[in-house]
Amino acid sequence: MEMTWDLSVFYNGFDDPQLENDIQRIAELSHSAQKIAAGNSSDVEKLEKMVAASSELSNLLSNAYGFTQLTLATDCTNEEALRYLDRLSNMMVDVQLNSSAIVRLVGGIADLEACIAQSETLKAHAFMLRETKEQAEHLLPEDMEKWMLRMSLDGAEAFSKLRDRLMGSHTVELDGKSLPLPAVRGMAYDPDPAVRKSAYEAELASYAKVETPMAFCLSGIKGEAMTMCEAQKYPDILSRQLTESRMDRETLDAMLTAIREALPDFRRYLRAKGKLLGHNDGLPFYDLFAPVGEASLRYTVEEARELLVSTFTKVHPEMGAFIAHAIDNRWIDFLPREGKEGGAFCAGYHQKKMCRVLTNFVGSFSDVSTLAHELGHGWHDRCLERVPVLMTDIPMQLAETASIFNETLLSHTVRETADEKTRFVLLENSLMEATQTVVDIYSRFLFESAVFEARKTHTPSAAELNQMMLDAQEAAYGDGLDKDVRHPSMWVNKSHYYNVGLHFYNFPYAFGLLFGLGVFALYQKEGASFLPKYDAMLASCGSGTIAEVAASVGIDVRSVDYWRSALDVVRGEVDEFVKLCK
Ligand SMILES: [Zn+2]
Repeated sequence: MEMTWDLSVFYNGFDDPQLENDIQRIAELSHSAQKIAAGNSSDVEKLEKMVAASSELSNLLSNAYGFTQLTLATDCTNEEALRYLDRLSNMMVDVQLNSSAIVRLVGGIADLEACIAQSETLKAHAFMLRETKEQAEHLLPEDMEKWMLRMSLDGAEAFSKLRDRLMGSHTVELDGKSLPLPAVRGMAYDPDPAVRKSAYEAELASYAKVETPMAFCLSGIKGEAMTMCEAQKYPDILSRQLTESRMDRETLDAMLTAIREALPDFRRYLRAKGKLLGHNDGLPFYDLFAPVGEASLRYTVEEARELLVSTFTKVHPEMGAFIAHAIDNRWIDFLPREGKEGGAFCAGYHQKKMCRVLTNFVGSFSDVSTLAHELGHGWHDRCLERVPVLMTDIPMQLAETASIFNETLLSHTVRETADEKTRFVLLENSLMEATQTVVDIYSRFLFESAVFEARKTHTPSAAELNQMMLDAQEAAYGDGLDKDVRHPSMWVNKSHYYNVGLHFYNFPYAFGLLFGLGVFALYQKEGASFLPKYDAMLASCGSGTIAEVAASVGIDVRSVDYWRSALDVVRGEVDEFVKLCK
């Protein structure tokens, strides 16, 4: 079996003339909107030309970037790839200005609905066109756009770079050695409690040397975002983030209400895990990721293939066949090696009707679960092939639906036949992750809200930010965590807070998990008859608001009851875990 992926479907190397042709064409197309707008075609013709040019541009960028980025993903110092990546990045300024020109073009069409009604192409792109028209109301003033973006390069963008520099070179002093931060954070998973504790203490101590510049970075980025937001005529950052991800406030409130109600259940799990590890006052922060029990499941890549194909074929034959096809046709790069990036991802290529998956498989059950997760993204991309490429832009909240569904299905299937010891470990893993995605995410949401509130009046100091983080952890974890052993510096550690364009990069994770679990619960209730609806819903993820997409499978995301039912899945797991602990 081949363990590396095949990239020759894109180009035959960086000297393939097709790559140069594609790059030339990208350059041409990135001035298309201005030309189309200036021409004297009818509005319908202008819109049709814009759709054609944007679709072509999107496919070409996806091919050229795909080839370059995938090459680098397994060979991070490949010089040709680095050169091409640089070249493509430089071209993105024009691509972005072209996007703004498209928004202005669509925004300037007097009667968009009449245009859509006259053209089949436009009907197939109706949601995207309507959304673009709304975006026109939030464009920066045209004469200022260029200057504001350029000032941002020396503002929030510069702070973000400083953050990357500070954290990229941040080291932790442990046992007389200077260690990179990720290595020390990784010790949270160590089986030895003394290692976990000393790593945590050393990590916290290390932040003293960077927390002041980091506090300024955070304030610089958040402050600029607030100014931009005002210039774009949004009432506040959260509203902007919700609008951009097609979600309404009612849905967010319903989800948060159900999460707050479920916090005591998560705390039951945390306290039970604490007891198991010898802590009577809740879990200390450094033991959140402590392994418990003994996992005996090991897999080769061939065995993983066997398990995935058989599990998914039983439930959804087409998905089973898709997984077999992906594995057998070298869509996946399985094993870790030098120069290859860590973690895992799936990238879809709409025009080529395929995806590529990177994992770092070493044989644990969690590696098989990661494969199921990434191939869930792949299946989602397969379903999206039914709609035009410009309708495949999906909000983060819905992007994890298929991957969570797959992970849950696999874990349920394996747990059914596993012995008690293994079941315990799998349950604990599942709860550990759910706690991060629900409880920790809730604390991050509270923290970020507090930062924006404080930033209205002043630049919060590091000490103030530490206190805000402790308050957020108290509200989220409560007595589940030992109150004397928390993590005031999580705001230094998590890069999500420093993203220039994306704020509140937290609640979408909780939404993604709970929506995926809710969809899985529907499948359990309705059985095989649910699957055609499921695939159609996946295909429609870029064609409507989140509430509309969810409604297509009968889910009302504005109702607290829906979120309660999704959290019931976790509650059931907590009950089982607490029982097994005894
Ligand atoms: Zn994912």
